[in-house]
Amino acid sequence: MGAVLGAAALGFAHAAPAATWLPPVRRLLPRLSGVGTDGHVALTFDDGPDPRSTPRFLDELDRLGCRATFFVLGEMLERHRALGRRIVRDGHELGVHGWRHRNALTVLPGRTAAELRRAAGLVAEVAGAAPVWYRPPYGVLSAEAVLAARRAGLRPVLWTAWGRDWTRSATPGSVLAALAPGLRGGATLLLHDSDCTSAPGSWRAALGALPAVVTACREAGLRVGPLRDHWPDVRQRRPPTFPTINRNFRNDDRVAL
Ligand SMILES: [Zn+2]
Repeated sequence: MGAVLGAAALGFAHAAPAATWLPPVRRLLPRLSGVGTDGHVALTFDDGPDPRSTPRFLDELDRLGCRATFFVLGEMLERHRALGRRIVRDGHELGVHGWRHRNALTVLPGRTAAELRRAAGLVAEVAGAAPVWYRPPYGVLSAEAVLAARRAGLRPVLWTAWGRDWTRSATPGSVLAALAPGLRGGATLLLHDSDCTSAPGSWRAALGALPAVVTACREAGLRVGPLRDHWPDVRQRRPPTFPTINRNFRNDDRVAL
């Protein structure tokens, strides 16, 4: 009986969502939802690095004189390490988006934590420094993901405004229109520099919207930059240690609790 109850309790602990989608929670946990320094707008990109699209974003950001945070997928970064290094070399920062693009509430217990550790280790290796930020796929934080992030010294960060750039019908204009109400001091903007989990070619809408988004912010007197400038105090407080990569880990491995 005890074993049954134990398993049930573990199952619940794994599945319990952090309810991060709810506006009241966002008010209670403003940092988790991305609310940062007033006068600054954080620019973030998810799902890369992707050799078909990410270099275009890097070129455009360079032209705009703008830096950003890239929440990368481990399986993408493993295949495109040189591109990951270029992101860092260009002055941007890498965050952790997971190893594969999974909803934390639909995977086996233990899998999210193992994949998060693996992705964070790879980001540390490629960037030459431990990552600070974690954004779960779909913005879904399970209890396991929260705990794993904490153990890895990562801070979960969602977003305050998104461009809805992942849809087949997205255009630069629709992306700008989706973001416009949220272009205010302290905002964290979510865009995608890859279409690996969304409609083919949808990244072009985000790329096309970038100049107008950055210009709109600057005309409103707002600085645009990466998360490290959104909360300048965070980096100094973060733990110095970091888990190493388990090179024998495979995506198909069953992970036990
Ligand atoms: Zn994503």
